[in-house]
Amino acid sequence: MAYIKLDRLAYEYNLDMIAKKAGGYNKIICVFKDNAYGHGAKLLAPIAKAKGVDFVAVKNEEEARELKTFFKNILILSHLPNSNESKDFFYALNDKNDIKKFKKNTKIHLVIDTNMHRNGIAIDEIEEVLVALEKQKLQLHGVMMHFAGSDEIDGSYFVQKQKFQLAKNKIYSLLKDKAKNLIFHSHNSEALFRSDKLEDDEYCRVGLVQFGYAYFNKNLHKVLSLWANKLSDRILKKGQSVGYGGVYSAKEDIHIATYDLGYADGLFRYNGKKEFFLPNGKKMLGKMSMDSFSCEYSGDEICVLKDANDMAKFFHTINYEILVKLSPYLKRIVI
Ligand SMILES: *Cc1c(COP(=O)(O)O)cnc(C)c1O
Repeated sequence: MAYIKLDRLAYEYNLDMIAKKAGGYNKIICVFKDNAYGHGAKLLAPIAKAKGVDFVAVKNEEEARELKTFFKNILILSHLPNSNESKDFFYALNDKNDIKKFKKNTKIHLVIDTNMHRNGIAIDEIEEVLVALEKQKLQLHGVMMHFAGSDEIDGSYFVQKQKFQLAKNKIYSLLKDKAKNLIFHSHNSEALFRSDKLEDDEYCRVGLVQFGYAYFNKNLHKVLSLWANKLSDRILKKGQSVGYGGVYSAKEDIHIATYDLGYADGLFRYNGKKEFFLPNGKKMLGKMSMDSFSCEYSGDEICVLKDANDMAKFFHTINYEILVKLSPYLKRIVI
């Protein structure tokens, strides 16, 4: 059966590197949204917990409930307010017009728009929003922002960082003593590793870097690899073709095998045209099927993915998309 292998030591090592940069495990918010970027949230949660991480961010309440037994603090990033919020979670406030839609006493992390213009409130709206939060009796616990181009080598990172500092100053001066218990967080994976050191009042909020991918730190270890098992093998005779549409034909007799992994498992569908090499150097042959693919014979088991950058390059996308699309139905084991 095709399966995902998660490398415990690699994950622990990456968390160590993040903690070193952030100033401790208690300063890390692990982003576990979308099944921990396709890795398997429930399998990695106990490892992060054992390291001393006690704060995660997820997409919605369903994901939050799944991790509730592991973590004391869970921030929900993309909640649509419905007046039925749980007191167990923190909710990102993405739009100031939503304030009235939250249940009273809901715990809020306020999103500041520092130039990405995706979510959040502008700096000059802070004062009115703090008043509105108070009026609606929402509890402000955190303030956050997101970088639009932390992995771009331009100045936008510094511009946004500066704007967030302005927002912080404003909040400190408006809330005075009440600001003491707030936590601030802005740095995602790339931002953390390009920064010198996290400010004392900041947590980091990191996703991808946990799993071994970072442009600004090449020394991390990949956590996930994807494996498939042989369904059958044969000699494809010269002139015979394999798979749908027969797009690959053997120029001479060749030993091929078919493995139990396909695009239904969340892989991008290989169309059989440009040469595609698997991590062992063998070529995939013909179009990928829904639940299988064929390639040059590679034994009983084959590694299909160990560095998502390779597939991302081939399919003209980013490593995030390759990983996050891996089906939650795939079996996962921690080694
Ligand atoms: C996904 C996400 C992150 C994590 O980003 P990485 O680049 O994976 O570290 C952080 N904050 C928000 C708001 C996100 O949506």
